[in-house]
Amino acid sequence: MATLIRGGTVVNADRAFRADVLCEGDKIVAVGPDLQAPAGAEIIDAGGQYVMPGGIDPHTHMNLPFMGTVTQDDFFTGTAAGLAGGTTTIIDFVIPSPQQPLLEAYHQWRGWAEKAAGDYTFHVAITWWSDQVHEDMGTLVRNHGVNSFKHFMAYKNAIMADDETLVKSFRRALELGAIPTVHAENGELVYQLQQDLLRQGITGPRAHPLSRPPAVEAEAANRAIAIANVLNTPLYIVHVSCKESLDAITRARAAGQRVYGEALAGHLIVDDSVYDHPDFDFAAGHVMSPPFRSREHQKALWQGLQGGNLHTTATDHCTFCAEQKAAGRNDFTKIPNGCGGVEDRMAVIWDEGVNSGKLTPSEFVRVTSANAAQIFNIYPRKGLVAAGSDADIVVWDPEGTRTISAKTQFAKGGFNVFEGRAVKGIPSTTVAAGKVVFHRGELRAVEGAGRHIDRPAFAPVSAR
Ligand SMILES: [Zn+2]
Repeated sequence: MATLIRGGTVVNADRAFRADVLCEGDKIVAVGPDLQAPAGAEIIDAGGQYVMPGGIDPHTHMNLPFMGTVTQDDFFTGTAAGLAGGTTTIIDFVIPSPQQPLLEAYHQWRGWAEKAAGDYTFHVAITWWSDQVHEDMGTLVRNHGVNSFKHFMAYKNAIMADDETLVKSFRRALELGAIPTVHAENGELVYQLQQDLLRQGITGPRAHPLSRPPAVEAEAANRAIAIANVLNTPLYIVHVSCKESLDAITRARAAGQRVYGEALAGHLIVDDSVYDHPDFDFAAGHVMSPPFRSREHQKALWQGLQGGNLHTTATDHCTFCAEQKAAGRNDFTKIPNGCGGVEDRMAVIWDEGVNSGKLTPSEFVRVTSANAAQIFNIYPRKGLVAAGSDADIVVWDPEGTRTISAKTQFAKGGFNVFEGRAVKGIPSTTVAAGKVVFHRGELRAVEGAGRHIDRPAFAPVSAR
């Protein structure tokens, strides 16, 4: 089955040019002017539109068991929502419970992901340490297509990695040709500030950002950067939300350190006034970590993307419904942390970034797919429209408009942090693995059609 995307402007990270794109099977087979459609090909008219690599969201949590409950979106509904928004690949997280063998957790997540409608691959979290964990990291890299390990510096008494774990795991990752990533927040400070606030009787969602100020994030970012510097490992910092963390990355990069930063669509668009809202459901719906920040931090994040010190955009898609969030009605520390976004990331970043002139269309591709593909070593299979790459494509209508709402979204959870926002520039068609999976509002996602994408190590591991 062939698909010909005709008459559009192909936008890659390096350039934009008029060309047709022919897909056969799950690959792009030709990109060029005036391509002929093979008999029976599905033809997509991309006149007046951009033809871009399908988005890669390098940070999602589908089907996640967290804080005593499980997210609303599973791998089918979550990846399907992504396809509707032009995102064709997600990098999700295997998060072993402390003491749970890594491989057991990995296979658990692989099982949950079998129903995915779009392609997926996994970072694996290192939540505890032992000789077996050291061993299993090697098995994951060598045999299971994992090349990144995640470390939560927050969530004390749960999945927090202490310095010993960070050092041992970073060192092991280097040995294996894998990249360490961190959720940078000082978990001890968060815990103590939470207790202070509860003692003072400040129990509502407003306390959430108060317990996680920018300095708490910056301390952890600086510590992780220092550890990576001493051990000479690369480092990827997920959901950089504040100026102080960005400054740490900028300084490290200026000094020649290989540090990458990720920004979330939510942190780029939504500010911390949401926590002042009198309605518990609304405020709690925005509880995620790190929290939304003030406008000055948002401005800094955009400058980080423009200046090349932040590299990727993600969502941390992790949906909980109002009933789940209500578990923290009398104690903000019990509100499940997480918000959605996988369906809207591309549109809100285009609208706020490209329409305003902050990003060119090529820069948009860089921060929505190409950089993630390069950093996590799946480029040019992903993140590029070229012959030989996977046929993951979004046809982007720069004149199309949509008003984002939980009422009309495909994602579950009944809540949207971008509620009511009108965006200009939306996907008209999404092609995943060569198949049209979304077309002009109609979702044709197929349960189980998504594939696990192996990500090779960064250096040969055979000799190790
Ligand atoms: Zn996350």
